[in-house]
Amino acid sequence: MKEFDLQTGRQGMINVTRQVREAVRESGVCDGICVVYCPHTTAGITINENADPDVVRDMLFALEKTFPDRPEFRHLEGNTTAHLKASFVGSSQTVLVENGNLVLGVWQGIYFCEFDGPRNRRFFVKTVG
Ligand code: ZN
Repeated sequence: MKEFDLQTGRQGMINVTRQVREAVRESGVCDGICVVYCPHTTAGITINENADPDVVRDMLFALEKTFPDRPEFRHLEGNTTAHLKASFVGSSQTVLVENGNLVLGVWQGIYFCEFDGPRNRRFFVKTVG
């Protein structure tokens, strides 16, 4: 298993595909699966378009509209919307590994999603053959 550290901004999606590819290469696994996992409750991992940066911007905008802050929320930390977004996106992604490479579409990238930064974050990559 490989661990990566990240320093995030307030909110955003950070493309971590390069780091995941590197972890898969280092694992030496040729055919198997790769799990990308983040151990946080207000951040997540997702796969989406890597070409047009407006897709990331639109996704963050839509998540903001879908999970607005509400006066009815009780959580004292005041970041319930971030918890909701994190559960919606999920804390991990699984990608197939074939011939030592991630099986991703040309337009797909793996993103670490920050919903309550800035914070020091980390994520793990485990490749199983
Ligand atoms: Zn909280």
